[in-house]
Amino acid sequence: MIQYDFNNKTYTCPFCGHAQAYGNSYDITGNGRYKNSSPIPEKYQESSFVIYTFYCSNTSCGRASVMAINKTTRKQIDILPQVTIKQWPLYIPQQIRHDYEEASTIIESSPKAAATLLRRCLQGMIHDYWNIHEKNLNAEITALKDKVTPAQWNALDGLRKIGNIGAHMENDVNLIVDIDVDEAKKILRLIELLLEKWYVARHDEEELLKDITEIADAKETKRKEK
Ligand SMILES: [Zn+2]
Repeated sequence: MIQYDFNNKTYTCPFCGHAQAYGNSYDITGNGRYKNSSPIPEKYQESSFVIYTFYCSNTSCGRASVMAINKTTRKQIDILPQVTIKQWPLYIPQQIRHDYEEASTIIESSPKAAATLLRRCLQGMIHDYWNIHEKNLNAEITALKDKVTPAQWNALDGLRKIGNIGAHMENDVNLIVDIDVDEAKKILRLIELLLEKWYVARHDEEELLKDITEIADAKETKRKEK
């Protein structure tokens, strides 16, 4: 989904991933032959969308994103690109990336199924990254308490309360819980944050340390050659 914030006039370009302020957005009110000035008959209001177009200000991208927002329900439908899925680096295990991508694809149409995939994704991350294996996801989250930052812990603890997941976590991780789109999206955001803070941060740190070690080694070699 295209991420936007009308209050702060910001959006994240789904093509290049840059968060930015937008200067202008073009919106077309109503649909079909109903124009801005004429009121839309009540029976058509449910199918009435406002269409927004954002142009990316990143000059190396510059692409347009288009989304429609239902005037009554505020449901968002992305028109261009139709599905935006964040791509994760290959050093993150395939099963985790796969669950994440599948959940992103279906989150609007089946938030319950998406939430189930996201719980499995989170469990995969806890198993792989932290090497924690408890009797269920609820116990595994508890085991993270002293390992993650207080902010991450609060978010994970909060996750148990979303959609009554805490109660169901005692059961099988694949159990389908009652959850709406907004709640499922919160879980998706949390998974994204944890992928960044755990896997991506660790990788970047390792790369930086490797670079520094290599520079030091090269200098050392040069010194010996003299
Ligand atoms: Zn862009």
